[in-house]
Amino acid sequence: EVATAHLDQIAAVDDRVHAFLHVDREGALDAARRVDAGEITGPLAGVPIAVKDVVTTKGIPTTAASKILEGWKPPYDATIVERLKAAGMPILGKTNMDEFAMGSSTEYSAYGPTNNPWDLGRIPGGSGGGSAAALAAYEAPLAIGTDTGGSIRQPGAVTGTVGAKPTYGGTSRYGLIAFSSSLDTPGPCARTVEDTALLHAVIAGHDPRDSTSIAQPVPDVVAAARLGLQGDLTGVRLGIVKEFTGEGAEPGVLAAFRESLEALVKLGAEVVEVSCPHFEYALPAYYLIAPSECSSNLARFDGVRYGLRVGDDGQRSLEEVMSLTREAGFGPEVKRRIIIGTYALSSGYYDAYYGQAQKVRTLITRDFETAFSKVDVLVSPTTPFVAFPFGSRTSDPYQMYLADLFTIPTNLYGGPAISVPCGLSEGLPVGFQIMAPTMADDRMYRVAGALE
Ligand code: GLN
Repeated sequence: EVATAHLDQIAAVDDRVHAFLHVDREGALDAARRVDAGEITGPLAGVPIAVKDVVTTKGIPTTAASKILEGWKPPYDATIVERLKAAGMPILGKTNMDEFAMGSSTEYSAYGPTNNPWDLGRIPGGSGGGSAAALAAYEAPLAIGTDTGGSIRQPGAVTGTVGAKPTYGGTSRYGLIAFSSSLDTPGPCARTVEDTALLHAVIAGHDPRDSTSIAQPVPDVVAAARLGLQGDLTGVRLGIVKEFTGEGAEPGVLAAFRESLEALVKLGAEVVEVSCPHFEYALPAYYLIAPSECSSNLARFDGVRYGLRVGDDGQRSLEEVMSLTREAGFGPEVKRRIIIGTYALSSGYYDAYYGQAQKVRTLITRDFETAFSKVDVLVSPTTPFVAFPFGSRTSDPYQMYLADLFTIPTNLYGGPAISVPCGLSEGLPVGFQIMAPTMADDRMYRVAGALE
């Protein structure tokens, strides 16, 4: 019944929301029937889920919202998908996103944007806008996202839903279509903190098939979220980043953030101002590191191994077929990233760009470590602005990149962070971000639970 209800809701609203690129009605109902038959039990058995289209699902089309992967059906499941299936969770379908997870609005999807259920003329965030919109439109109770620079948290913020980026290495990347391998982190999305934690617990944990997966026990995020829900934060120190305050955020976003901060103080938390002097270099460092890694990862889309192949008429050379395929298969933002990354990695420029960006990354990590010697978590608005109208930030890439001003430092460091709804500005949702030290995911869930 639960799976059917969600499939019916998708049928009723998704022509307006466009959260899904593919709906797997039969697969979802089959999985639900197995739970009904008592074959699988557990806290989330029978609870359906939507999965971002950058995550491979065996036999279900997986395109990363790119034309270059149109029609590709992966022969295997990502580790996190295996874990969803083992937990008895029916997969409703695959959600829309910016092509290869590059963007902050889903406007870079090759299959058309997703509309924000709060206002269909506005973006649902990105890159995981489809997952967030599916939750906000009650098409799915839970969803999977991936966060390289904010793609779980920023869509959560602008759709009034919860999204958590686990510690890098806390969730397996095996079976994710790689964008920036040193940053990519799959994670849970839901409408409440407790649901987010329950999903987190299902997908997290060591995976020998991912060389950067952490071989340590996963912190008890469910217990932490439930503890937070009791509403006592006595002794918890919240750090405000001096360099973040006021910078670039809309007044309504700051007002909602400050109001929630005061609510946390009433629950016993203490607010401490900390300085993270290198955070201002996070955005430029990210926009060298992420494109550099993407230029290498996306080299595999050559028209031979997967999906699209253009110009293979028996006359043209292999190189011509590869370049015609890549010309036709990649969208403009993906091409921009490949060009930036190829340039930054080329000999003679490597030290000036990629090498420098890696040094900045180390300095940002030290800023976090210094801050966490004084406070338990850092807090900020998730994103500087509420959901913006379609087309308002596509003409200047930098305007789009600014959406991730507050989320990117965490990715460069590798720690966990969560976005929780914290009120409205101009009638649109605002997100509150909580950042914690690596492998202290439970700490952010406790504060998140209290905020809810
Ligand atoms: N918006 C950022 C980018 O375009 C982050 C994307 C992500 O987290 N996948 O790279």
